[in-house]
Amino acid sequence: MSNQYGKLYVVATPIGNLADISFRAVETLKQVDLIAAEDTRHVKSLLQHYGISNKVVSFHQHNEDKAADSLLEKLRSGLSVALVSDAGTPLLSDPGMPLVCKAKESGVTVVPIPGACALIAALSAAGLPVTKFSFEGFLPRTSSARKAFFTEKLTSQTTWIFYESSHRILSALQDMAVVLPAETEIVIARELTKLYETIIKMPLSQALERVVQDDNMRKGEFVVIVDGAKKVAQVDGLSAEQEHILKVLMRECSTKTAVVLATEILGVKKKLLYQAALALEKSTGEA
Ligand code: SAM
Repeated sequence: MSNQYGKLYVVATPIGNLADISFRAVETLKQVDLIAAEDTRHVKSLLQHYGISNKVVSFHQHNEDKAADSLLEKLRSGLSVALVSDAGTPLLSDPGMPLVCKAKESGVTVVPIPGACALIAALSAAGLPVTKFSFEGFLPRTSSARKAFFTEKLTSQTTWIFYESSHRILSALQDMAVVLPAETEIVIARELTKLYETIIKMPLSQALERVVQDDNMRKGEFVVIVDGAKKVAQVDGLSAEQEHILKVLMRECSTKTAVVLATEILGVKKKLLYQAALALEKSTGEA
């Protein structure tokens, strides 16, 4: 049995190019009773562009819980509401989660109006595996927390994606280069759908060099996509992370010293590490 509640429409808006909006999104924004926007000024330029003169209320992360309750009241009284964020799909690293949860709990119908989303746009043009992937949102802000995060990702065999700002793209890649193998394939998608859209795909070490050398590669908005760790023939009993540490040590010192150091660092049997080192030497020699 249907109730008399209004519907909540979760509407995707462009991530740069104003033409990237669906007919249905424009129609919905025209027809709803109320538009709840992350930044009312920002959305007004979009609304103006499409000749939409509808009521807009503020809905940003600092007033999210309170605003969700008041919007819920309106939805329950029969008004329809469109939720939009500054760019792309609401809830994806954007406000909206509490409202959608509360609406569903209260029996309000939540309708997605799909459209642009930076991570999906980047993935579609990246040329990295998409059958399975994980979206990590924004990375932690401190270097140590980022390195800890990258260490966790060392063994991830599926593609993973994160959002980054111009302020932190360089330090994020520098931290990544400390932890992940230099040959890890990454894609940096910058300013998608905009005038200076740039999508580069290269090994991590080269990508970092490019971002260091090219000022433009530190400007705008970024999606970074990282190829999953390759499954390597592992010596029994050694994790991919342990093997990576051994590899790094072998790059910097002799096999003998690397094995001694790795024994101490990892607390793994010397014999096992020695076997692994020989196997690694063999596989690099064959490559
Ligand atoms: N909800 C949005 C979506 O659907 O993609 C994302 C909002 S999040 C607050 C903003 C971040 O998304 C930016 O810092 C950047 O990492 C990424 N982003 C948004 N637009 C982008 C674009 N045009 N090009 C590259 N990255 C973009």
